[in-house]
Amino acid sequence: MALNETDLLAKVPTGLYIGGKWVQGHGEKPISVEDPATGKILLEIANADASDGLAALSAAHETQATWAKVPPRERAELLRRTFELVRERSEEFATLISLEMGKPIAEARGEVTYGNEFLRWFSEEAVRITGRYGTSPEGTGRMLVAQRPVGPAFAITPWNFPLAMATRKIGPAIAAGCTMVVKPAELTPLTTLLFVKTLEEAGLPAGVINVITTSSSAKVSAPIIADPRLRKITFTGSTQVGRKLLEQSAQQVLRTSMELGGNAPFVVFEDADLDAAVTGAMLAKMRNIGQACTAANRFIVQESVAEEFGNRLAEKMGALKLGRGVDAETTCGPVINESARENMQRLVDTTVQEGGSIVVGGESGEGAGYFFKPTVLVGVKPDAAILREEIFGPIAPIVSFRTEDEAVALANDTEYGLVSYAFTQDLKRGLRLIESLDTGMTGLNTGLVSNAAAPFGGVKQSGLGREGGFEGINEYLETKYVMTPDPFA
Ligand code: NAD
Repeated sequence: MALNETDLLAKVPTGLYIGGKWVQGHGEKPISVEDPATGKILLEIANADASDGLAALSAAHETQATWAKVPPRERAELLRRTFELVRERSEEFATLISLEMGKPIAEARGEVTYGNEFLRWFSEEAVRITGRYGTSPEGTGRMLVAQRPVGPAFAITPWNFPLAMATRKIGPAIAAGCTMVVKPAELTPLTTLLFVKTLEEAGLPAGVINVITTSSSAKVSAPIIADPRLRKITFTGSTQVGRKLLEQSAQQVLRTSMELGGNAPFVVFEDADLDAAVTGAMLAKMRNIGQACTAANRFIVQESVAEEFGNRLAEKMGALKLGRGVDAETTCGPVINESARENMQRLVDTTVQEGGSIVVGGESGEGAGYFFKPTVLVGVKPDAAILREEIFGPIAPIVSFRTEDEAVALANDTEYGLVSYAFTQDLKRGLRLIESLDTGMTGLNTGLVSNAAAPFGGVKQSGLGREGGFEGINEYLETKYVMTPDPFA
């Protein structure tokens, strides 16, 4: 049964969370958080200025030394208790995600399961941080290698997965013994606020996780990054902003994790199971209304099956029902705001001017929200502008190829390298593709790769570092090496 929206919104804290207290921000006016499906304001929340950001960093810094000494099992149990609470309240989290971000409720439930899994995974990882002890090659000494928390970290998250992008950073930070300042995106901050309230209820010590919401991201973030008390920055967002943050981080030589933009190729060979390819395409394209870094951005389809694939995809795209995400019958929500919708129209118009044609969609949907109809574009030229940009919306451009070499060259012809998808039933071809597609992740005969147990991340300009998997916790650990003389000498 659908939850009462007013009751749910009343549970969301509206302040900044600094040093274990919910406080007001000193920014000019509160941030109005909007429902993208109606354009109406959901809630007004605190707006931080630069002094609030530094107060949050002070709280994280002051807590770091004591937090690092808390036994790993205690840190693990905090994560596990929070995981249980989020699971109990999963419908609240799903509804809130859907309200502020617009995704259909079924997908929002999927995000809660996925996002919460990072808490369970890292609660299990917290007690497996190990080191080693050995004799030096010459036999004259003993070498110890230990892992220690990096120190206070600054997390900046995007608007598209308001729970999962927060837990993917907060989970490993808590597990590793790092304190953190978290700055969620101003477009969808409510889920992170409710999540941190849940962490607090699970027993989060004051100062370990601090949250600032602000409409002045650059002005509030820059002084934090420039402050020598900060030791790490972890960012998920666009490559453009990531580059700026890397430049700023260079001044303090910060540890950096960068999960940036993508331009995923989705390659379909004539020997593919076409049913599986179309199902995979819908998942890879339409998860989050196309607003995912992992979204299939370029459909690269072998000439002999391109028309059939295009028609079948268009049929499924055209059958999606636009609406408010919280309405049970909705299968496609709005894009995040008016400028995103205008950008969809620009991409479609440019592609048509360049010789492509619209099979389905191609225009805004009805209603007060920011709806854009799911769109399939065929006959797209390999040099079309749409293939160069991250679309971040419900548009599927299809370009065709003749040979495997041509497909790989097209797929790799981008500065991004987050994820690729390939559909073929030929095992040897599949293995060749895994080795030749220049991306951090590949979905082979599947349209979904995200999993808390897997190392998520990209190569080239899609980023640095990995989140999740065994690798995820290492982003929050420093290696300490100790040499001591042979105790028997
Ligand atoms: P964005 O880069 O505009 O914003 C991301 C975050 O950075 C937000 O919190 C924003 O307030 C903040 N920000 C913006 N400018 C800043 C500045 N100068 N200094 C400090 N903070 C600043 O991205 P977005 O529109 O929120 O999200 C979409 C982008 O995120 C897409 O490019 C998408 O591919 C990427 N993304 C990547 C992953 C991944 O894991 N690789 C996951 C989700 C989203």
